[in-house]
Amino acid sequence: MVVVGAGMAGVQTAVALREQGFTGTVTLIGAEPHQPYDRPPLSKAVLLGKAEGSAFDVDFEGLGIELRLGREVLGVRPGDHELDTAIGPVPYDVLVLAGGAEPIRLPGAEGVPGVHLLRTLDDAERLRPVLAGQHDVVVVGAGWIGAEFATAAREAGCAVTVVEAADRPLAGALPPEVAAPMAAWYTASGTVLRTHARVERVEPGAVVLDDGTRLPAGAVVVGIGARPATAWLAGSGIELGRHGEVVADERLRASAPDVYAVGDCASFPSARYGERLLVHHWDNALQGPRTVAANIVGGPTGEPPAVYDPVPYFWSEQFGRFVQYAGHHPSADTTLWRGDPSGPAWTVCWLREGRLVALLAVGRPRDLAQGRRLIESGTPMDPELLRDPARPLKAATAQGPSDRP
Ligand SMILES: Cc1cc2nc3c(=O)[nH]c(=O)nc-3n(C[C@H](O)[C@H](O)[C@H](O)COP(=O)(O)OP(=O)(O)OC[C@H]3O[C@@H](n4cnc5c(N)ncnc54)[C@H](O)[C@@H]3O)c2cc1C
Repeated sequence: MVVVGAGMAGVQTAVALREQGFTGTVTLIGAEPHQPYDRPPLSKAVLLGKAEGSAFDVDFEGLGIELRLGREVLGVRPGDHELDTAIGPVPYDVLVLAGGAEPIRLPGAEGVPGVHLLRTLDDAERLRPVLAGQHDVVVVGAGWIGAEFATAAREAGCAVTVVEAADRPLAGALPPEVAAPMAAWYTASGTVLRTHARVERVEPGAVVLDDGTRLPAGAVVVGIGARPATAWLAGSGIELGRHGEVVADERLRASAPDVYAVGDCASFPSARYGERLLVHHWDNALQGPRTVAANIVGGPTGEPPAVYDPVPYFWSEQFGRFVQYAGHHPSADTTLWRGDPSGPAWTVCWLREGRLVALLAVGRPRDLAQGRRLIESGTPMDPELLRDPARPLKAATAQGPSDRP
């Protein structure tokens, strides 16, 4: 067993294989030199120096997982069942692609001093002194990473301006009416949010917008999205999708024999949502590996294959708020609010044909936990009851009161 990528998905695959009784050799190859670590703390505690690092608490040696770190895999030849690395080929019986994603770079900004990305531990370590030095920071992109970085930078005492080409934060992720209240969070934290703002160029010490505005910047952080890190698979014959991701099937198998793909680098068909999903969140890199391992290890004869069809979940901590999302809302026909979006705690519910398909909870973790289960079970909901934020979500089902848990 060879796993390429020693991030969350790769590590969890190796661990899940052992948990599910795989006894053969497991080799985990990772390009980064560090002991495998978790990314969410990078834009939170690690950035602020509240945590030194975020290495996974996994006993690789004890589990018999061979780590080959600081080693980039350069290519794969599926016909030969071999990977290519700078120090020679690595054979495999079964291969798991878990190379994750890499940040999209801002054209023209590369190589300009003071321009940062935030994906790796090295990135976070380079950004720590920026925060500690309370520099003026310009963040390009009001997405999840931009918001979390701005939060940390404000907490550290930096002056922060976030520039966003769209008319609102999280334009790619959430509909306008849901994202609109979030713009106020920026302002309340003392962050300047400039929407409809396109970066024309980045110079040492400044970001110049296309309307000629020159924003002084002791540092620039680019958070304009991420894409699957799959350039090394080009020409291998393994099918890549329109975002460059590995196209996996419902069992997370790639198009070549004995090759699986999981985590940020892979999309999978969701029967639940009727479309192919490419999920760039932590929970997907935790759950997917269990399906991969189950399919590799195989169950007792006659057991059906393990199919991956999760209710996606993620969280974000921004501007003093705990934001959680479960499901996938694009197919919804109804949007309902629980609570006032200008207040500290509220939830948005998306329904299709009376059933919950997604929800976003701000400071309402119980809604999230109950909603996630209701999405999974596809329970019909009562929209009127659902609108009442004082009523637990699980008591807003369309069943009669006697059926309510
Ligand atoms: C700063 C930050 C904060 C985040 N916060 C949250 C959060 O709050 N909530 C949430 O739900 N999600 C969050 N995420 C997203 C979450 O961390 C990712 O979804 C998750 O890390 C994906 O895991 P992965 O293993 O698929 O990919 P990655 O974590 O990207 O790991 C892939 C690894 O593979 C290596 N690799 C790639 N190509 C090769 C190759 N050819 N050879 C060898 N190695 C290779 C890479 O170097 C990398 O180490 C955050 C992400 C970041 C960057």
